[in-house]
Parts: sequence; structure tokens; C-alpha cells
Amino acid sequence: MTKLMRRYDPLAAARNWSPKSNGSERESMNITEIFGENTFQQEDLEERLPQAIWKDLEKTIEEGEQLNSEVADAVAVAMKDWATEKGATHFTHWFQPLTGLTAEKHDSFITPNQGGGAIAEFSGSDLIQGEPDASSFPSGGLRQTFEARGYTAWDPTSPAFIMENDNGCYLCIPTAFASWSGEALDHKTPILRSNETLDKQAKRALKLFDVDAKRVSSTVGCEQEYFLIDQEFFYRRPDLMTSGRTLVGAKPPRGQELDDHYFGTIQERVLSFMLDAEKELYKLGIPVKTRHNEVAPGQFEIAPIFERCNIAADHQQLMMITLKRIARNYGFECLLHEKPFDGVNGSGKHLNWSLSTSEGMNLLEPGDNPHDNMQFLFFFTAILKAVYEHQDLLRISIAHAGNDHRLGANEAPPAIISAYIGDQLADVIDQLLNGGAKKSKQGGLLGLGTPVLPSLPKHAGDRNRTSPFAFTGNKFEFRAVGSSQSISFPIVVLNTIVADAIDQLCTDLEEKVENGESLEESLGEVIREALSDSEDIIFNGDGYSEEWEKEAEERGLLNLPTTMDALPKLTDDKNIDLFEKHQVLNKREIHSRQEIWAEQYLTTLNIEADTTESMAKTMIYPAAVRYMNELADNVERIDGLGLENRGSMEMLKKVNNGLNDLNDALEELREIVLHSDDESILGNAAYVKDNVRPAMTKIRDSVDYLERHVADDYWPLPIYREMLFVK
Ligand code: ADP
Ligand code: MG
Repeated sequence: MTKLMRRYDPLAAARNWSPKSNGSERESMNITEIFGENTFQQEDLEERLPQAIWKDLEKTIEEGEQLNSEVADAVAVAMKDWATEKGATHFTHWFQPLTGLTAEKHDSFITPNQGGGAIAEFSGSDLIQGEPDASSFPSGGLRQTFEARGYTAWDPTSPAFIMENDNGCYLCIPTAFASWSGEALDHKTPILRSNETLDKQAKRALKLFDVDAKRVSSTVGCEQEYFLIDQEFFYRRPDLMTSGRTLVGAKPPRGQELDDHYFGTIQERVLSFMLDAEKELYKLGIPVKTRHNEVAPGQFEIAPIFERCNIAADHQQLMMITLKRIARNYGFECLLHEKPFDGVNGSGKHLNWSLSTSEGMNLLEPGDNPHDNMQFLFFFTAILKAVYEHQDLLRISIAHAGNDHRLGANEAPPAIISAYIGDQLADVIDQLLNGGAKKSKQGGLLGLGTPVLPSLPKHAGDRNRTSPFAFTGNKFEFRAVGSSQSISFPIVVLNTIVADAIDQLCTDLEEKVENGESLEESLGEVIREALSDSEDIIFNGDGYSEEWEKEAEERGLLNLPTTMDALPKLTDDKNIDLFEKHQVLNKREIHSRQEIWAEQYLTTLNIEADTTESMAKTMIYPAAVRYMNELADNVERIDGLGLENRGSMEMLKKVNNGLNDLNDALEELREIVLHSDDESILGNAAYVKDNVRPAMTKIRDSVDYLERHVADDYWPLPIYREMLFVK
């Protein structure tokens, strides 16, 4: 039997897309008009609420004051009116359970009235509190199934918004999600709590510098990387459907070697998608700023302007949802996984983080003369101290199955946490540690060797892409965050560890001042001491190099290559003490997170292993057998004709070898899976990592070998070349 028909047509994928609005007229977009169109913004509130009520609410939003029920009732009415005017029929408390995704359950505004009609109703209590039957969300032991109550609570600091669909729309109210006993079952609550402690400590420090701030918050802006592939391919790959990444697949002859994709001209269909996605994001009040092609073929990036951490985290979730949703309108699937394609660059999410007062002062702005800017140096030092003391927590905050494929693979920062600070600040710190800082290196002008081009101001320090945590001008950039993950826990960790470091420095300072030292003198001493304790965290060299690994070890820095090396440390006494001291997470909440994340890791790997096995057995194996039959027939017929059959014979042997190897690898995986019986989740997860993962790699190797030998028309899966290059 021969069969020369592909089971799908990559050409169709390339041809058969059409933009959603296939009208010939270009739709013009007025950003200022549509921006925030679907969010219930402060202006809307101010306009619709009685002045006194608005003032009260503003205090809650801006200064973190307790909300009262009168305000809630008034807001509920205003919010319902706004939403129903926009056509919303339902509302939902929108929250972020520890799955890392978002959750919603819709309720209609409709209440029947006596005359047989209906009115739209929505009260203050509907707004403030919801009670989803939340027993199916992970609680890591915080909630037994028999006490299934969970509550959602309105977060007035993050604007409500409307989600649209061609057939209707609904109101989403950002909420926190907690158990019956008040323990946080979500990602939002700890962010709010951590920002509270950060606010308190930062204001305490600012007082020393005579700066009056209403509120200090961390600010966050994320650069999100993602892949787009044609849906035609996505649905033909069980691995992409179950795991978001390809579990088998040989490297294409051409990957990113030509460096031709990064910042390249954006292909037509992709641009159509981007414009549409951005429009949706603008409507949701998400300030998207940049877009470009990334390093790998089929890889792109989008970044918004920074916002307060809590809102940025909500918006990040919305951004991921929106990218996925809109991609489908263009026949694409948007892949957010950290490593969708082996051998091709993976995706990350740079988390830019800084501190800002509500009056708009960026506390990490060094100015032209950082050596002279004690306030900046104080906060900068606190951050370095925090990162040094809590490398483990930063590493844990980015630990999950997807990111294990990416960290330390010469495309992303290594699993060793260090901080890059650039030449200028390294020099200032050097001076500080050796007596006192007298000057700051200046950048000067960059001449381009021809008078027609302008001279450009040159930064005093270059960039460094290999650092996991880099100071980039007036913010730190946490570069090891994974593309698919919620940014909440990394924010919680940064907020808390920095609050703690500020707390420690302030305590030292206040003590010195009380003992009669001048503020200036004490500041110098405290900063110097903290820097000399934590300077080992500073590394300005090549973070991808092997030498760095050795040097980091000599410096005593932590190197935690995988999730299962990092996660067990979450419950170390040091970490429990820290989170409890700052009332961000209690012991039970920390243990529950550890358990949930270990379980997620375990489940992810189990799904991957099962999928690998079933694809190998039910798709790859049969394809190879069919091709072998054809080859075997051919060998015999050629022989029958009295001709030399070396070619077919060799190929037959090769495919047969591949098949035998595949068989052995599959047996091995079976054995391993049968023997995982550790009772603890952490133990099981570690076992799976150490044993299942290598077995999957063996299967993959045999499959990829077969992919290179089996006839193309028999191969049942879209291959890398098609997925990465057909747009
Ligand atoms: P860079 O060129 O260093 O990458 P950009 O200005 O392009 O800097 O910003 C990259 C990301 O950093 C954007 O998402 C931006 O919003 C964010 N960002 C800039 N300033 C801050 C800040 N003060 N706090 C938090 N994020 C910031
Ligand atoms: Mg950047």
C-alpha cells in the first residue's frame, strides 16, 4: 500500500486566513477615545458618585483606608448603571486562585418583579462579597472539602471592567479570594498585604529624608514574550493541546541562526492580530506600549507601561487571556509556554519593578550624580541586601515545570540569582566601600563619525542580558520570570524582602541617630555596612558562562537548577519568619502554597509523560511500521527483479533500529511510572523529576530520529519547520 497524501496541508494554513474585519476600509483607531472604554475608571466613579462618597472611596484607593458599607452601596449602584448602559447582563467576581489562572462565575443582574417583568439589581453586598462554591480550587490543605466555603472580596483599588463577546458582555469585579477562616487562597491578597508592609517601611525611610508621601507602592511593567502558530498545526499536536509545548519534534534545518527575526518587519497577518489585540487591551485600560518580533521564528513580544503592582498583576492576567483569545480570530494559537520548541529560544516575561510615591517620585531614580544621592543609595542598597538575603525566595518565585526548561539554557538567566548594577553604580559602590563616594562616572556623548547624524547622549552603563536581576536605569528588571506564569508571587517576594531590608536599615539608622550621630554620618555607615555584607550578590559579567557558575559557588551563592531544588526551601524557618513578621503570609498559607505548587509540578510532568507515551504508541509507532512495510515490500521486489537492494535495505534497518529504541524507551518509562509510590507530594515530584524526565528525553530522541527517517507523507505530526515558519 502506498499513500502519497498528506494528512494535512500546510499550504492551506498559510493561505486560508483572513482578517476578522475583511472590509477594505481601514478602521481608524483613536487611542484616547477607546482607552479605558471598558473599565470603570476613577473618572467614571467621580462623575457618578456624590462628592462626599467619592472622597471616602478615594481615601481607600489612594491611602489604603478601610471601606465602609455606605460607600459600597453607592458604588454598586453606579457600577451597575455603568455596566448595564454598556449592555452588560451579568456580573462576576473575578479572582486569581492559586492555579495561576483566573476564575469567574457569572450571575445575572436580573431580579423578577411582581408585575412579571424584571429589573436589574446589584447591591453593595453583591459588590463587596461573593461566595463561590470554591471547593474545587487548590487550597493545599487550607480548606477541607467538608468546609468548602470560600469568599471573594472586592478590591476597590483595581478597576472593574467589561469583557466583551460578539453575543454579549459582562462585568468583572476584581476580587480577593479567601477561605472561611480568612486565609488567602489566591494571588491577589498577598500582593495587597505585601504592598502594605512596603508602604509602611518605605514611608518610614522617606521621613528620614524629609519626604512626605501619601503612599508608596511598587510599580510593575512586564515584557511578555509569546509564540504564534497556525491553529491548523496546534490541533494536530496532542502535546501542544495537553501541555502547551511540543514533547517530540526534531530541530528544523533553519532556526534562529540567521538572526533575521529579532526586530524584523512584522508579517501582515501577525500585525493584524497585534493591532486587534492591542485595541482590546486599550479598551480594558491596559497601557500597551511596545510590540516587536523576538529572537525565535514565530516569537513576539508585547509590553505595557508600568502601573501599581496590584493593577499590573491584574492586567498581566488579562493580557495573557486577551492574546490567546484574539489570536484565534486570526487562525493562530498563542503559545505562552516557556519552551514550546526544543532547540529554539524559549519565552520569558521580564518583570520591571520599582518603587514610587503616590506623588510620582520614583525612588530608584539615581539622577545624574548617584554618588551624591543618599536617598537613592539607601533604597538601592536595601534592594541589594534583600536580594542577597533572599536569593532562595526569588528563585522559588519563578520555579515551575515550564521554567525548568528555560533557566540556565544559554538563552535565559541561570538559576543563580545575582544582581547587575552597571559600571556607574559599581564604581559608586566601590568608592563607598573604600572611604566615601566623591564622583559619578558620566556617560558623555556618542559620536557617530559623521556630522549629519546627531550626537547621542550615552548612558553611563551598558546593558547586560545575561543577568537575572538587572538595574536598568531607574528600575530593576527581574528577567527570570516565565512567560506563562502569574507575576503575583514574584511581586509578593520582591515587595516583602525589600520591605524587610528597609525595615532593618531604618532600625539601624534610627538607633544611631538616637545615640547622637548625625543622620548623614549614620546613613553612610549603615549603607556601607549593608553593602559590604551583601556585595557578593553583585555580578556584572556574563551570567551564561561556566566560570560564573564556579565563581558563584565560591561566593557561596545559591544555585538551584530546578523547581524541585528550590521549592522545598519555601518553608524554611527563615522564610516563614519573614512572611509572618510582615503579615504577608502565615505558616499555613506558606505550606499550602508549597504543596499546591509541588502538586502542579507533579501533575504537569505526569500529563507530559502520558502524552509522550500515547503519541509515541498511537501515532509514531504506526507511522514507522507502515513505512517499514513499504520498505520491506520494496526490498523483496527489488531482490525478485535481481537488482541490488542496498538502499531500501539500509533504510529499513535504520527505521527498524529507531523503532526498537523507541520500544525500549517506552518500556523504561512504564517501569518508572509504576514505581513512583512516595507518599509525600514533594517526594513524588522529586522522583518524577529525577526519573520520568530523563525517560521522556529518551523517547523523544528515538521519535526525533524516526522523524528524520520516516517518509514525510506518513509522518502524523506537523513538524517544526511548518509550525515555526508558516504564517
Ligand atoms: P528598557 O528599555 O530598559 O527595557 P523600557 O522603558 O522599554 O525600558 O521599559 C521596559 C518595561 O519596563 C516596560 O514594561 C515599562 O513599563 C517598564 N518600566 C519602566 N519604568 C518602570 C518603573 N519605574 N517601574 C516599573 N516598570 C517600569
Ligand atoms: Mg527591557
